[in-house]
Amino acid sequence: MQQSIPDELQHIREQGLYRSLRSVQGRQSAKVEMAGRETLLLCSNNYLGLADHPALARAAVDAVERLGTSSGASRLVSGTMEIHELLESAVSAFKQTEAALIFNSGYAANSGIIPAVVGRGDVVFSDRLNHASIVDGILLSSAKLVRYPHNDIQALDRLLDKYRGTGRCLIVTDGVFSMDGDIALYAELISLKQHHDALLMVDDAHGCGVLGTGGKGSAEMCGVIKDVDIHVGTFGKALGSYGAYAALSLDLRELLINRARSFIFSTSLPPAVVAASLAALELIGTEEGRELRKKLHANASLFRGLLVEAGFHTYGTTQIVPIITGDATVTMEFSRQLLDEGLFVQGIRPPTVPQGASRLRCTVMATHSADDLAWAAERIAAIGKSLGII
Ligand code: PMP
Repeated sequence: MQQSIPDELQHIREQGLYRSLRSVQGRQSAKVEMAGRETLLLCSNNYLGLADHPALARAAVDAVERLGTSSGASRLVSGTMEIHELLESAVSAFKQTEAALIFNSGYAANSGIIPAVVGRGDVVFSDRLNHASIVDGILLSSAKLVRYPHNDIQALDRLLDKYRGTGRCLIVTDGVFSMDGDIALYAELISLKQHHDALLMVDDAHGCGVLGTGGKGSAEMCGVIKDVDIHVGTFGKALGSYGAYAALSLDLRELLINRARSFIFSTSLPPAVVAASLAALELIGTEEGRELRKKLHANASLFRGLLVEAGFHTYGTTQIVPIITGDATVTMEFSRQLLDEGLFVQGIRPPTVPQGASRLRCTVMATHSADDLAWAAERIAAIGKSLGII
């Protein structure tokens, strides 16, 4: 018999996996207003505070005034405006690739690029902790999905051997893993890709703007920016805007224009958003960008240190600081009690993370003060103790 929708919702509730929306008033700053009270925001991807930066706002307002509010069509119809091409040139210069192509979001990029590059008879090797949009792209592609244990290079090597000669091979990985905050093992992945004649695609949504001396991302930080075939990054996180890019060869760009359905069949980004992304890329390369990154990294190590000192289990080295709690229901209770005290940290449960690996995913911003973070760590420790997590 068909399950009713209320029964399905009840089932989700019983599993402790029910999700609901929480609204933030005003700007996405380090402190926001929620339900009429000042709240410290510790779960935003606005890592450098650029969503709240006057240079981006000015660029967006100026673009609305000059170019209007919509692109009016998809890119292959009449929706390619000069400003889209300017952003693509800026991205290819930023990532040191021959070419770049803009997508409407990171989700649209991953779910469009992968089926454009591989299909039936091909194989995609995907890190087990890759973002859901990568997994969805692989499922849409009809290529064989081979998941390898997180950052396990020996296992990946064996799997690449096993599928040798089976069509086109694509290795795909997050650059900075979105839920664990650790970094892909670039040097090893590149030597495997070369040895096995595979393509390497890296989704650096959380590294772009944040890592590397020029803010070009985790591949820059690891000194391998030239060795990645397809760089994906998003404008909606550290870059304070919206949308995504693929930075790649001219041939791959042509292939995506012809094959990537999320690119072909969707209205292109409005000019104001593109203008804000251009302003963000410019800012990333300035002294101000470097200072913001320095502050972000200092904040992340301060906050991680305080949590470890308090006895929490965490991972990674970046601005993503997970607190591993395990049980989904306890995690949501932890998040609820923190919100009652004026601290917004989202709980993350399956299917976003594996069963038993629920967590509070704290994300640090350059715009947090050291006092904010010390206060947050102290409240997290107090509630963590009362819930028996530490
Ligand atoms: N890739 C990763 C690693 C992400 O974390 C996200 C966003 N959570 C995306 C892609 C999707 O990007 P967007 O929000 O622009 O759709």
